[in-house]
Amino acid sequence: MKLTPENIETLMREVIDPELGSNIVELGMYRGADISDGTVTVKVALTIKGCPLRAQIQNDIKNRLMILEGVRDVKLNFSEMTQEEKAATMDKARENISRQQTETEIPPNARVLLVASGKGGVGKSTVTVNLAVALARQGYSVGLLDADIWGFSVTQLLNLEGRLKGSLESKKILPHEVEIPIALDGNGDGAKGELKAGKLKVISMGLLVESEETALMWRGLVLNRAVQHFFQDVEWGEIDYLLVDMPPGTGDIQMGIAKLLPRAEMIVVTIPAKNAAKVSGRAIAMGRKNYLRIAGVIENFSGFTTADGTEHFLFGKGGGEELSKQTGVPLLGKIPIDGAIAERGDSGNPIALDSDSPVGKAFLEIAKGLPPHEDMSDCSATTIKINLSTKSS
Ligand code: ADP
Repeated sequence: MKLTPENIETLMREVIDPELGSNIVELGMYRGADISDGTVTVKVALTIKGCPLRAQIQNDIKNRLMILEGVRDVKLNFSEMTQEEKAATMDKARENISRQQTETEIPPNARVLLVASGKGGVGKSTVTVNLAVALARQGYSVGLLDADIWGFSVTQLLNLEGRLKGSLESKKILPHEVEIPIALDGNGDGAKGELKAGKLKVISMGLLVESEETALMWRGLVLNRAVQHFFQDVEWGEIDYLLVDMPPGTGDIQMGIAKLLPRAEMIVVTIPAKNAAKVSGRAIAMGRKNYLRIAGVIENFSGFTTADGTEHFLFGKGGGEELSKQTGVPLLGKIPIDGAIAERGDSGNPIALDSDSPVGKAFLEIAKGLPPHEDMSDCSATTIKINLSTKSS
């Protein structure tokens, strides 16, 4: 992706104000950029200048723009909005929130990551489950929703049995909870400031139906609605993240999910073959069309090194970098090919639990690059909430 004012603006549409939930271009916070000799200076007007979320917006802008060809440095020039500008921004945020058709039970502070792929078989479910485990190993509470309802595999990958239960009080579905030991080798140190076990909270068709055949009988009847129910009627409780294993492709279900969760970000799983970038690029385009922020790309089935130090690239090389370059989306990491992935997946013992393996390490690294949303309690949230609930005249 080339360094042009248009491409900068496209990428700025992916930067979401964490508090207001819309992108900074739409909110009128992005005020253009100066390009000079590889340095991009981005002008941003904030509603309240001292807000700690400023750091998050700043990092987000930098990470996105550094990917453009020829960018050497990204600088931020912050200003504060006038009262009138602030009112217009609030109006826009309010309008966007009211357009959001349905309420979900997902806590507003949870970082929602939709793991998608252009087509099946690239290891999307494997990546989702292991990334969820790696995040939980930092001490976080991670919701894991298997929205790949026809090809659900999360239950098998985690060796979960049993049936989902409901809460009589709230009449909501309760997720199946699994404790995940924290990474004690230093990888998880300090992530949440304390050494306590992380948690997975899992929802999958595999916890509702007896077998895949039964699921297939449901096809066309309620399955499309099932995904929506999963978002609306599950009592997630406190979670830091929600990872969604999306169905492969770019069809109606994906778009429905994107509409339901406008604050969600997408992670696209791709393979190293350069010609795969086209198919994966479609998933990114679909996300952008629905105003989803693209958190990044993960390359799976990447090269691995044998004991003698030789590198092997069974499925080609460079696909992740190529996709990142073409679309301006960061490459979050690469997962090497390892027979143990399938083996451990079959026995419900995800490889991300093994911090010594190169694959386990790769997942922990990616998890560390996806920090949770910042606590907004010190911010202007209270004022903004009041502003959002009272229509300005
Ligand atoms: P998808 O969800 O995209 O259809 P899966 O996650 O089900 O793909 O993975 C397909 C198969 O590939 C599974 O058998 C899985 O164990 C295997 N697999 C995934 N990633 C890797 C990898 N990096 N190395 C070896 N095998 C892998």
